[in-house]
Amino acid sequence: MNVTVLLTELQNLDLHSQENDRARADAEKQYADSAAMDAARAVLERATTQLAALEHSLRDLELETGGLSDKLVQVNERLYSGRITNAKELADLNDEEKALQKRKRELEDRALSLMEKIEAAQNDVQTKRAAFEERSTQTNAQRLRAQNQLRQLDASDAELAQQRADLRARLDAPTLRVYDQLRAAKKGRAVAHIKNAACSQCGYAVPAGLISRVKVGSELVLCANCGRVLAP
Ligand SMILES: [Zn+2]
Repeated sequence: MNVTVLLTELQNLDLHSQENDRARADAEKQYADSAAMDAARAVLERATTQLAALEHSLRDLELETGGLSDKLVQVNERLYSGRITNAKELADLNDEEKALQKRKRELEDRALSLMEKIEAAQNDVQTKRAAFEERSTQTNAQRLRAQNQLRQLDASDAELAQQRADLRARLDAPTLRVYDQLRAAKKGRAVAHIKNAACSQCGYAVPAGLISRVKVGSELVLCANCGRVLAP
């Protein structure tokens, strides 16, 4: 068979293999990419921490209010027990009772405002959890796609390797040496076709005599300008 036809086929296989390498790098990147999901998780964690802090503040406030209520009960008991007859002592107790009531009202106002904040924070957590779950689903789908692609690439590479070995076995060592050297030097394009009597890769005009030698295909004819193997 025409040696340049075989080399053209070999180049096609090698170029396909290169494309597979690029696709593999892409798929591996896609598989490893969890940036969007990680970011959504971090946002959710911040919202959850904020909610926990608010809930903690409310529990503290409730404890303080509870202590205050106990104290109020005691103060009221003494105030209305009839046991205290000293006017100064009664006035002091009365003041204390008023101060406790005032403090209690303050705490209750703060609790109310905290509860509103907690409700808003709960909604926030819910929204951010939904966003995170959506991101997770997307990331998992992306991983699955990448995994499938990698599996297909494995199969394609195995097939290419076999075809490549078969083709190389049909070419002689000097021809393969020229091809491999050119392939390395010319970014994978060792073979150039003749289009309108010119090299398809560099555009250099190919003399008619060379064109007919290329068509015979029993020897390697190189482009006088770019040095690639010319193929019909
Ligand atoms: Zn050329």
